[in-house]
Amino acid sequence: MTTVSDEVTGERSPAMIERGLFAVHFWAGDTRNHRYPRAQLQDEARDTFSPGCTRDGVVIPARWAFRSELSQELGDDRDKAQDCRACFRRPR
Ligand SMILES: [Zn+2]
Repeated sequence: MTTVSDEVTGERSPAMIERGLFAVHFWAGDTRNHRYPRAQLQDEARDTFSPGCTRDGVVIPARWAFRSELSQELGDDRDKAQDCRACFRRPR
């Protein structure tokens, strides 16, 4: 059985790690694409999600999205002009 942690520690590209940890959704709240931690999205009991850009304290916590405000998961064919800059910036 392959667990998420096996995938994270095995041979992989940074893009694959990103995809394993984050899902990209369009958020109707500010009409941008943000990255959301999959662990949050998979928690059925949760209705509010904080995008990746809130993790560094860059963004105020009031910017939490409700499940109903998120689109389906988006792939690389999304409109990247809508990407949240803070979520998609290159890691330092
Ligand atoms: Zn963001």
